[in-house]
Amino acid sequence: MNFMIPNAIRRVPGTGPPNAKIAIVGEAPGAHEDAQLKPFVGPAGGVLEQCLHAAGLIRSDVYLTNVVKVRPPKNDIKPFFDGKIFSSDGLVWVRELREELDALRPNIVVAAGKTALCALTGQTAITMFRGYILETIELEHVKKCLPMIHPAACLYNQGGGDKGSVSASAKPYIYRYVITSDLKKAKAFCDSPELARPQRQLIYQYDSVHEVLEWLDYFADQPLVSFDIEVMNYEVSCISFSSDPSISASIPIAQHWTEDEEATIWRGIQAILGNPNIVKVGQNLIFDTHFLLTRCGIEVKGSIQDTMVAHSIVYPELPKGLGFLGSVYCGAQEYWKNMIKWDNIKEES
Ligand code: URA
Repeated sequence: MNFMIPNAIRRVPGTGPPNAKIAIVGEAPGAHEDAQLKPFVGPAGGVLEQCLHAAGLIRSDVYLTNVVKVRPPKNDIKPFFDGKIFSSDGLVWVRELREELDALRPNIVVAAGKTALCALTGQTAITMFRGYILETIELEHVKKCLPMIHPAACLYNQGGGDKGSVSASAKPYIYRYVITSDLKKAKAFCDSPELARPQRQLIYQYDSVHEVLEWLDYFADQPLVSFDIEVMNYEVSCISFSSDPSISASIPIAQHWTEDEEATIWRGIQAILGNPNIVKVGQNLIFDTHFLLTRCGIEVKGSIQDTMVAHSIVYPELPKGLGFLGSVYCGAQEYWKNMIKWDNIKEES
């Protein structure tokens, strides 16, 4: 069955300056867009405009378009996109969108909602990826895609909350804040087409216990250290330290060393965590400090700056997990769970 409406009929083209640095891609026109033949002129467009203003942008700064350029029958996108893959009719629009964006060459393209996200990156997990700059697929001249919640999500408050984070009734308000935050990021990263990730050195392999001890000595000399433990089978499987955003060392503990070596490592850890002059930073450190004290006998001393507590004090209604914090505070950082090299882990385990 062919659900496509002939292009000549009520086609809603993209609009905006031909030299726009930011393009925003929605799903498909609704009734208002169909009536005026302009994208984002209905209620969702109103929300988008408010959020653009709050982010320091105006509508005429950005290019606005949709994946599907005609209003789907009954506003139902399913004939084109079932939430995971595009139908053959949907793919016709996706190819056209890619050509449109490659001709326009914005420095960054904001994918508003899952349909646009999938068309531009092949991903569908909008709540997970929003706020993280991803690489586009099958576009030659536009590399950066920033997924954003669709502004229409602010218009409805029914439906379940996000995983333990945003309650359904609070969604219309919280999503406005999150959309604004993502538009601010698009603005911050729209000056060049390159995707420049922050360079970070992550140390997780050591030739000997001496190398581990050298790193522990290094962190023991720093005025501020962030740390995090991973727990498996009620044991610390590894502990990570960082003293600035460009460097961190993750030290394997359980079943990795002889008893003597492990004891020396724990003494090195105590020298850092037990030093009251070193400021400790971390996420939900009540867990880590309690576990370290009760299970390992390590007492964390000195001032503690907890990112989860700090963020919840300033924004009590917002999600407070690391995924959300990273999306808001970590610039062009990749979604970190995508950085895990599973091949290495399988080889080593
Ligand atoms: N929703 C969209 O995805 N696009 C529009 O143009 C309007 C509402």
